[in-house]
Amino acid sequence: MQRYFGNIQDGFAYLSEDDQFHVVKVMRGKVNDQIEVVSDEKLFLCDIISLKPLKIRVEKEISTNVELTNDVVLIVSLLKGEKMDLVIQKATELGVEEIVLLKAERSIAKINKVDEEVKLNRYRRIAKEAAEQSKRIRIPLIYQVIDFNQLDKINADVKMIAYEGMAGTSANFKNKINKIKKGERLAVMIGPEGGFSPKEVEIASENGYRKISLGRRILRAETACFYALSVIAYTLELN
Ligand code: SAM
Repeated sequence: MQRYFGNIQDGFAYLSEDDQFHVVKVMRGKVNDQIEVVSDEKLFLCDIISLKPLKIRVEKEISTNVELTNDVVLIVSLLKGEKMDLVIQKATELGVEEIVLLKAERSIAKINKVDEEVKLNRYRRIAKEAAEQSKRIRIPLIYQVIDFNQLDKINADVKMIAYEGMAGTSANFKNKINKIKKGERLAVMIGPEGGFSPKEVEIASENGYRKISLGRRILRAETACFYALSVIAYTLELN
């Protein structure tokens, strides 16, 4: 069943224009068809009661338990082109609560103020679609791009920087995740294609980020995101 993020008011569901178009034209919705609508992190089963204009009535609230037990923040250095889209999509499927885009010295991708808003809106659209597809009740927040001098803006209790210089060491992070307490926020930082500079590692550790290894091999930045988030999700909910 198709799921949308919208607003519920007085027993009716209201969707964005794009989503209304999707219901009527793409999904070819008919009267009495049912869809799911998420509003304020609550899930509702709804009925289409008319198409012109589109009217969607709430039938009932459905209980659901899909989100990770702890909030996870992915801090990912700007990556070139499609890689960033893929990271946003997979990070959403893997349950992150927030994605922070980080300007790093050795990022190939550069982002200027002009195209920042355009890119952020694109990433937010990818995150919304991935949240709908993976049946989440939350769309990850994607804030403005930050640089290393703004790490203090990130709210997290357990902070880790995946540092390639630790590859193959015992600085694994499973035990850090196993020790996480209820309500604690966990942040993991992933570097760009060129890796972290020593200065960046130093600034991160001054901001409380502990260096961790993601295993013996050097992973591509996007693979490192998927690997780290998979270990976190597995440890938090399947372990
Ligand atoms: N250019 C770097 C080098 O050759 O060592 C590799 C950077 S890697 C492509 C991009 C990011 O993935 C790194 O900055 C780090 O955050 C993460 N990463 C990849 N493999 C890792 C590993 N084995 N341990 C920790 N972090 C890793």
